[in-house]
Amino acid sequence: MTTPDPLPIPRLTAPISGAVELPGSKSITNRALVCAALADGVSRLQNVLVSDDTEAMIHGITALGAEVTDEGDGHHSIRGIAGRPAPGPITVDARQSGTTSRFLAPVAALGIGEYTIDGADQLRARPFGDLVDALRSMGIDATATEGDRLPMHVVGARAVARRVSLRADVSSQFASGLLLAAPCLPWGLEIELVGDIVSQPYLDMTVAVMRAFGANVEADVGRYVVDGGGYHPREYRIEPDASTASYFFGLAAASGGRIDVRGLSTASLQGDVGFLGVLEEMGATIEETATSVRVSGPDSGLRGIDVNLADLSDTAPTLAAIAACAEGTTAVSGVGFIRNKESDRIAGPVRELVRLGIDATEEPDGFRIVGGDVDGGVVATYDDHRMAMAFTVLGLVKGGISIEHPDCVAKTFPDFFSTILGLATSSSTASESDPTPATSAARRVIAIDGPSGSGKSTVAKALADRLGLDYLDTGAMYRAVAFAALRYDVDPSDTDAVASMARTIDIDVSPKGVFVEGADCTVEIRGPEVTRAVSAIAANPEVRAELQARQREWATRKGGGVIEGRDIGSVVFPNARAKFFLTARSEVRAGRRAKEVTDLDYETVAADLVRRDTADSTREHNPLVMADDAVVIETSSLGIDAVVDHVVSQLPED
Ligand code: C5P
Repeated sequence: MTTPDPLPIPRLTAPISGAVELPGSKSITNRALVCAALADGVSRLQNVLVSDDTEAMIHGITALGAEVTDEGDGHHSIRGIAGRPAPGPITVDARQSGTTSRFLAPVAALGIGEYTIDGADQLRARPFGDLVDALRSMGIDATATEGDRLPMHVVGARAVARRVSLRADVSSQFASGLLLAAPCLPWGLEIELVGDIVSQPYLDMTVAVMRAFGANVEADVGRYVVDGGGYHPREYRIEPDASTASYFFGLAAASGGRIDVRGLSTASLQGDVGFLGVLEEMGATIEETATSVRVSGPDSGLRGIDVNLADLSDTAPTLAAIAACAEGTTAVSGVGFIRNKESDRIAGPVRELVRLGIDATEEPDGFRIVGGDVDGGVVATYDDHRMAMAFTVLGLVKGGISIEHPDCVAKTFPDFFSTILGLATSSSTASESDPTPATSAARRVIAIDGPSGSGKSTVAKALADRLGLDYLDTGAMYRAVAFAALRYDVDPSDTDAVASMARTIDIDVSPKGVFVEGADCTVEIRGPEVTRAVSAIAANPEVRAELQARQREWATRKGGGVIEGRDIGSVVFPNARAKFFLTARSEVRAGRRAKEVTDLDYETVAADLVRRDTADSTREHNPLVMADDAVVIETSSLGIDAVVDHVVSQLPED
């Protein structure tokens, strides 16, 4: 379907209310693609953003020799080049993608021969001089058009420099590019940044992704020491894009509604989650659950604030749009450098707001906007996705606005309009607002919950067989994380370390067995060590959020199925097709468990069961509680078939 141009944005007729799942972060996707491309094996990335900029990166790394396979559902596998790009001459067309051009120039310098980095006109207008200077100072033959512009040429020669200093006051992408290439230099690299560093959070993100792929980086303010050990392949899950989330959060805040963004956390690697703090200062309420972040706008409207956005500059256009809806003046500073982004993001928003009748003025390093009435009209977007998305928010709140060249959103979020306008439509048609609308996959889930030994695994498997449905054992997922913690020497009580491991580790639970990072641990996860460690792992809210997100993703991929666990009906799939809660007397449960684990005596198993039951039902996050609408089945004196018959008899029509 083609989008009309200009695209009229309908004014909201009811406060926005709903939940969204957003595509992966562009910034993390492009960093992870580079690390995977440089690694010495096959990596799998999940929740990869598919957009112009990430496609540019995929083409770029492919040109340099990596093999990328799109496995569907946001999964990509990447066979890396172990730090050695295919020999030049090779041209990388970065299209409009700043990160592709700035990351792949230093990466190309790891190869042999000549590499050309080029891009679309918009990218050709952006600066590259600081990167060229840094590469030259490392002994690499790098040249740019007029010293500062694309196309630029790099002659790869296996640089042996161990140290480089680099200006980081125009763009942090240059420093990120050098950092990303550094582990593949024979002796690594020491990088010193000079000048006022812009966008420090993006540098932190670069380092975090590098570390996830096995790089050894010491990071200090303005100074990085990177070892030359290369990258190792891995399974890596990409967080939802926080800059994209800003439009949804901004809309909730400015319209007095509420929106939940699933899969995001305030502990994100992305600096742009700082936008939540900005909205809070303007009067919005922020709430975080284990699986999502919610913003609710005040009924009385937002108030203007003074804010330095240096560390979250991609949200400046969003703030410009909602500042026009706020009471009083909003003064943004610290972002002079965003004049060099896809468009001049100070001049553009100000010019468009003035055209709509808003009192807005440019400052050298920001802008001032006084909230007020909007006249309506067509907004020019300067081929800048962020302009289009930000002014859509304004249009939804104020009405009368059309967006010129709406297709430019494809740079980072091709489905932006269908997502945000869909949310607006469902909010205005919903008879009552529901922040967690059922997805069709969720409605096809049968939830089987209960404590250990209640018979839920056997029953769930038999039920799935009988109905020809897929089956997921979520307890095995928690056990797999516990197993990985023990295997990789991560202290199960170190919540941060376990959480970051859980976010990145490859876990495959299927009827074939349970695999962690490709290694079969079907037997080990049932052993006493894992059983002892698993309660602490399951009490970790971030681990829960991660595994719950994977469980929902599983249901979407499979189109539903039978899922067993502790919180499936109560938390993970509150809109499940049917919910069952199995129970049994504790001595019956211990007896069943003792039969399964033949190397332990009944007393040990019974004591362990009591300990786990207590831990599971008293933990702070998602304790074992029965969903109000679950069907309870006491299984102490029932055989499997009898329970399955009973479950089937209680199923509502599909
Ligand atoms: O079902 P199983 O005994 O294999 O689960 C192992 C542990 O994983 C449980 O004791 C519980 O702490 C945790 N778990 C959970 N939520 C689920 C499934 C299991 O907390 N949905």
